[in-house]
Amino acid sequence: MASPTESLPALRTNPKAIFFTDFDGTITLQDSNDWMTDNLGFGVELRRQGNKDVLYNGRPFRDAFQEMLDSVTKPFDQCLELLLQNVKLDPAFKDFATWCRANNVPIVVLSGGMQPVIRALLAHLVGEEEAAAMQIVSNDVKARPGKSINDENGWDIEYHDDSSFGHDKSLEIRPYAALPERPVMFYAGDGVSDLSAAKETDLLFAKAGRDLVTYCEKESVPFTVFNDFSDIHKIVADVVDGKISVQQAATGTK
Ligand SMILES: [Mg+2]
Repeated sequence: MASPTESLPALRTNPKAIFFTDFDGTITLQDSNDWMTDNLGFGVELRRQGNKDVLYNGRPFRDAFQEMLDSVTKPFDQCLELLLQNVKLDPAFKDFATWCRANNVPIVVLSGGMQPVIRALLAHLVGEEEAAAMQIVSNDVKARPGKSINDENGWDIEYHDDSSFGHDKSLEIRPYAALPERPVMFYAGDGVSDLSAAKETDLLFAKAGRDLVTYCEKESVPFTVFNDFSDIHKIVADVVDGKISVQQAATGTK
Protein backbone atom coordinates (compact mmCIF):
# COMPACT_ATOMS: atom_id res chain seq x y z
CA MET A 1 0.00 0.00 0.00
CA ALA A 2 1.23 3.47 -0.79
CA SER A 3 2.13 5.53 2.28
CA PRO A 4 -0.20 8.46 2.91
CA THR A 5 2.61 10.84 2.02
CA GLU A 6 2.81 9.41 -1.49
CA SER A 7 -0.91 9.53 -2.19
CA LEU A 8 -1.53 12.81 -0.34
CA PRO A 9 0.92 15.33 -1.78
CA ALA A 10 0.22 18.06 0.78
CA LEU A 11 1.73 15.81 3.51
CA ARG A 12 5.12 15.60 1.81
CA THR A 13 6.71 18.32 3.94
CA ASN A 14 5.01 17.17 7.16
CA PRO A 15 3.14 20.46 7.65
CA LYS A 16 1.28 21.65 10.75
CA ALA A 17 -1.54 22.95 8.59
CA ILE A 18 -2.90 22.68 5.05
CA PHE A 19 -4.74 25.53 3.37
CA PHE A 20 -7.35 24.34 0.89
CA THR A 21 -8.91 27.09 -1.16
CA ASP A 22 -11.27 27.88 -3.96
CA PHE A 23 -9.77 29.97 -6.75
CA ASP A 24 -12.38 32.06 -8.57
CA GLY A 25 -13.80 34.91 -6.50
CA THR A 26 -11.77 33.78 -3.49
CA ILE A 27 -8.12 34.24 -4.50
CA THR A 28 -9.27 36.51 -7.30
CA LEU A 29 -11.69 39.42 -6.96
CA GLN A 30 -13.72 38.38 -10.00
CA ASP A 31 -14.86 34.85 -10.77
CA SER A 32 -13.35 34.12 -14.21
CA ASN A 33 -16.24 31.84 -15.23
CA ASP A 34 -18.80 34.41 -14.11
CA TRP A 35 -16.85 37.08 -15.97
CA MET A 36 -16.91 35.07 -19.20
CA THR A 37 -20.61 34.23 -18.80
CA ASP A 38 -21.58 37.83 -17.97
CA ASN A 39 -19.45 39.49 -20.66
CA LEU A 40 -19.05 36.93 -23.44
CA GLY A 41 -21.95 34.55 -22.80
CA PHE A 42 -25.65 34.84 -21.95
CA GLY A 43 -25.20 37.60 -19.37
CA VAL A 44 -25.46 38.33 -15.69
CA GLU A 45 -29.21 37.80 -15.24
CA LEU A 46 -29.35 34.25 -16.53
CA ARG A 47 -26.13 33.46 -14.68
CA ARG A 48 -27.57 34.70 -11.37
CA GLN A 49 -30.71 32.67 -12.01
CA GLY A 50 -28.51 29.62 -12.59
CA ASN A 51 -26.81 30.11 -9.21
CA LYS A 52 -30.18 30.57 -7.49
CA ASP A 53 -31.43 27.33 -9.03
CA VAL A 54 -28.47 25.54 -7.42
CA LEU A 55 -28.78 27.25 -4.03
CA TYR A 56 -32.55 27.13 -3.57
CA ASN A 57 -34.03 24.66 -6.06
CA GLY A 58 -31.60 21.76 -5.81
CA ARG A 59 -30.41 21.98 -9.41
CA PRO A 60 -27.03 20.22 -9.88
CA PHE A 61 -24.20 22.75 -10.08
CA ARG A 62 -22.74 20.68 -12.89
CA ASP A 63 -25.71 21.33 -15.19
CA ALA A 64 -26.12 25.03 -14.39
CA PHE A 65 -22.40 25.64 -14.88
CA GLN A 66 -22.35 23.70 -18.16
CA GLU A 67 -25.11 25.93 -19.49
CA MET A 68 -23.21 29.09 -18.52
CA LEU A 69 -20.01 27.98 -20.23
CA ASP A 70 -21.88 26.67 -23.28
CA SER A 71 -23.11 30.24 -23.80
CA VAL A 72 -19.50 31.40 -24.27
CA THR A 73 -18.50 30.65 -27.87
CA LYS A 74 -15.35 32.80 -28.22
CA PRO A 75 -12.15 30.84 -28.96
CA PHE A 76 -10.33 29.73 -25.80
CA ASP A 77 -7.13 31.72 -26.43
CA GLN A 78 -9.19 34.92 -26.78
CA CYS A 79 -11.08 34.17 -23.57
CA LEU A 80 -7.79 33.65 -21.76
CA GLU A 81 -6.37 36.93 -23.05
CA LEU A 82 -9.47 38.84 -21.88
CA LEU A 83 -9.37 37.15 -18.48
CA LEU A 84 -5.72 38.10 -17.98
CA GLN A 85 -6.71 41.73 -18.66
CA ASN A 86 -9.78 41.77 -16.42
CA VAL A 87 -9.38 39.44 -13.45
CA LYS A 88 -7.58 40.91 -10.43
CA LEU A 89 -6.03 39.29 -7.41
CA ASP A 90 -7.18 39.69 -3.80
CA PRO A 91 -4.75 42.42 -2.66
CA ALA A 92 -3.54 40.42 0.36
CA PHE A 93 -3.21 37.00 -1.27
CA LYS A 94 0.39 37.28 -2.47
CA ASP A 95 1.68 38.11 1.02
CA PHE A 96 -0.32 35.23 2.42
CA ALA A 97 1.07 32.80 -0.21
CA THR A 98 4.62 33.94 0.53
CA TRP A 99 4.02 33.49 4.25
CA CYS A 100 2.58 30.00 3.66
CA ARG A 101 5.64 28.93 1.68
CA ALA A 102 8.01 30.26 4.35
CA ASN A 103 6.03 28.54 7.11
CA ASN A 104 5.48 25.16 5.44
CA VAL A 105 1.73 25.53 4.96
CA PRO A 106 0.88 23.95 1.59
CA ILE A 107 -1.81 25.73 -0.44
CA VAL A 108 -4.07 23.33 -2.35
CA VAL A 109 -6.31 25.06 -4.89
CA LEU A 110 -9.61 23.18 -5.39
CA SER A 111 -11.48 24.70 -8.26
CA GLY A 112 -14.54 24.23 -10.41
CA GLY A 113 -12.76 26.31 -13.02
CA MET A 114 -10.50 25.08 -15.80
CA GLN A 115 -6.84 24.18 -15.20
CA PRO A 116 -5.24 26.28 -17.99
CA VAL A 117 -7.19 29.38 -16.91
CA ILE A 118 -6.14 28.97 -13.29
CA ARG A 119 -2.49 28.29 -14.13
CA ALA A 120 -2.28 31.30 -16.47
CA LEU A 121 -4.00 33.67 -14.04
CA LEU A 122 -1.97 32.52 -11.03
CA ALA A 123 1.35 32.83 -12.87
CA HIS A 124 0.28 36.29 -14.09
CA LEU A 125 -0.97 37.47 -10.67
CA VAL A 126 1.42 35.96 -8.11
CA GLY A 127 4.39 35.02 -10.32
CA GLU A 128 5.59 31.72 -11.78
CA GLU A 129 7.51 30.62 -8.70
CA GLU A 130 4.72 31.14 -6.17
CA ALA A 131 2.21 29.58 -8.56
CA ALA A 132 4.37 26.50 -9.18
CA ALA A 133 4.45 25.78 -5.42
CA MET A 134 0.66 25.32 -5.31
CA GLN A 135 -1.15 22.08 -6.04
CA ILE A 136 -4.16 22.70 -8.28
CA VAL A 137 -7.03 20.22 -8.52
CA SER A 138 -9.70 21.41 -10.93
CA ASN A 139 -11.79 20.81 -13.99
CA ASP A 140 -10.13 21.04 -17.39
CA VAL A 141 -10.84 22.18 -20.91
CA LYS A 142 -11.30 19.95 -23.97
CA ALA A 143 -11.91 20.47 -27.69
CA ARG A 144 -15.38 19.86 -29.03
CA PRO A 145 -15.55 17.03 -31.62
CA GLY A 146 -13.79 17.99 -34.86
CA LYS A 147 -12.58 21.34 -33.47
CA SER A 148 -9.62 22.91 -31.73
CA ILE A 149 -10.14 24.80 -28.45
CA ASN A 150 -9.07 27.98 -30.26
CA ASP A 151 -11.87 27.71 -32.84
CA GLU A 152 -15.16 29.59 -32.50
CA ASN A 153 -17.39 27.37 -30.32
CA GLY A 154 -14.41 25.01 -30.13
CA TRP A 155 -13.96 24.34 -26.39
CA ASP A 156 -15.91 22.63 -23.66
CA ILE A 157 -15.36 22.05 -19.96
CA GLU A 158 -14.06 18.61 -18.97
CA TYR A 159 -15.28 17.77 -15.50
CA HIS A 160 -13.01 16.33 -12.83
CA ASP A 161 -15.40 13.57 -11.70
CA ASP A 162 -18.92 12.22 -12.18
CA SER A 163 -20.46 14.05 -9.21
CA SER A 164 -23.32 16.52 -9.47
CA PHE A 165 -20.77 19.22 -8.64
CA GLY A 166 -18.60 18.48 -11.69
CA HIS A 167 -15.72 18.69 -9.24
CA ASP A 168 -16.60 17.28 -5.83
CA LYS A 169 -14.06 19.13 -3.68
CA SER A 170 -14.65 16.87 -0.67
CA LEU A 171 -12.97 14.00 -2.57
CA GLU A 172 -9.58 15.69 -2.22
CA ILE A 173 -10.06 16.79 1.40
CA ARG A 174 -11.55 13.64 2.98
CA PRO A 175 -8.46 11.36 2.80
CA TYR A 176 -6.56 13.99 4.81
CA ALA A 177 -9.42 14.41 7.26
CA ALA A 178 -9.53 10.62 7.82
CA LEU A 179 -5.91 10.33 9.00
CA PRO A 180 -5.54 9.38 12.69
CA GLU A 181 -3.05 12.22 13.15
CA ARG A 182 -3.19 15.06 10.71
CA PRO A 183 -2.44 18.72 10.13
CA VAL A 184 -5.00 21.43 10.88
CA MET A 185 -7.14 21.91 7.80
CA PHE A 186 -8.52 25.21 6.53
CA TYR A 187 -10.79 25.96 3.59
CA ALA A 188 -11.62 29.30 1.98
CA GLY A 189 -14.37 29.86 -0.56
CA ASP A 190 -17.07 32.19 -1.81
CA GLY A 191 -19.74 30.47 -3.85
CA VAL A 192 -21.84 27.58 -5.05
CA SER A 193 -18.80 25.65 -6.30
CA ASP A 194 -17.72 25.35 -2.65
CA LEU A 195 -20.81 23.60 -1.33
CA SER A 196 -19.17 20.16 -1.58
CA ALA A 197 -16.21 21.28 0.55
CA ALA A 198 -17.96 23.44 3.13
CA LYS A 199 -18.32 20.81 5.86
CA GLU A 200 -14.97 19.05 5.52
CA THR A 201 -12.31 21.08 7.33
CA ASP A 202 -11.58 22.43 10.84
CA LEU A 203 -12.20 26.03 9.88
CA LEU A 204 -14.16 27.35 6.92
CA PHE A 205 -13.59 30.89 5.71
CA ALA A 206 -16.51 32.25 3.66
CA LYS A 207 -16.26 35.53 1.76
CA ALA A 208 -18.46 38.33 3.09
CA GLY A 209 -21.64 38.97 1.12
CA ARG A 210 -21.31 35.96 -1.22
CA ASP A 211 -23.44 32.90 -1.92
CA LEU A 212 -21.40 30.58 0.33
CA VAL A 213 -22.41 32.67 3.38
CA THR A 214 -26.08 32.33 2.40
CA TYR A 215 -25.68 28.59 2.00
CA CYS A 216 -23.86 28.11 5.34
CA GLU A 217 -26.53 30.11 7.16
CA LYS A 218 -29.29 28.11 5.50
CA GLU A 219 -27.64 24.75 6.28
CA SER A 220 -26.24 25.75 9.72
CA VAL A 221 -22.67 25.07 8.61
CA PRO A 222 -20.21 26.93 10.89
CA PHE A 223 -18.02 29.48 9.12
CA THR A 224 -15.75 32.46 9.70
CA VAL A 225 -16.39 35.41 7.46
CA PHE A 226 -13.50 37.14 5.63
CA ASN A 227 -13.28 40.30 3.57
CA ASP A 228 -9.87 39.71 2.05
CA PHE A 229 -6.83 37.51 2.67
CA SER A 230 -5.46 39.76 5.42
CA ASP A 231 -8.30 38.47 7.66
CA ILE A 232 -7.41 34.88 6.79
CA HIS A 233 -3.67 35.48 7.14
CA LYS A 234 -4.00 36.70 10.72
CA ILE A 235 -6.07 33.73 11.89
CA VAL A 236 -4.03 31.07 10.07
CA ALA A 237 -0.78 32.56 11.42
CA ASP A 238 -2.15 32.65 14.98
CA VAL A 239 -3.16 28.99 14.77
CA VAL A 240 0.10 27.82 13.14
CA ASP A 241 2.15 29.84 15.68
CA GLY A 242 0.19 28.20 18.51
CA LYS A 243 -1.29 31.46 19.82
CA ILE A 244 -4.81 30.09 19.55
CA SER A 245 -6.26 26.65 18.84
CA VAL A 246 -8.20 26.07 15.65
CA GLN A 247 -11.28 25.42 17.79
CA GLN A 248 -10.89 28.83 19.46
CA ALA A 249 -10.40 30.42 16.08
CA ALA A 250 -13.44 28.67 14.62
CA THR A 251 -15.73 29.61 17.48
CA GLY A 252 -14.25 33.06 18.09
CA THR A 253 -13.76 32.20 21.77
CA LYS A 254 -10.47 33.97 22.20
MG1 LIG B 1 -15.48 30.76 -6.19
